[in-house]
Amino acid sequence: MTAEIQLTGRWVERELAWNDTDVLNCPVCGRLITRRAWAFDAGAGELRVHGPDCEELYLTYWKPTYGLMKPNADY
Ligand SMILES: [Zn+2]
Repeated sequence: MTAEIQLTGRWVERELAWNDTDVLNCPVCGRLITRRAWAFDAGAGELRVHGPDCEELYLTYWKPTYGLMKPNADY
């Protein structure tokens, strides 16, 4: 099944000032996020994932299955 998904996110650079030591993993797929993250409004706040693929995965699978994901708590 292929649905037309409207992605709303944007790339954000990971600035040293706000996260220089922590390792950030994609909350949807667990992949390590390195230099930049894909930020989008997940319904309960802004989520940062590893790329637009995971916004789509969140919208098509994660949210219908588990409900709204809370934004990452540690920043
Ligand atoms: Zn991901």
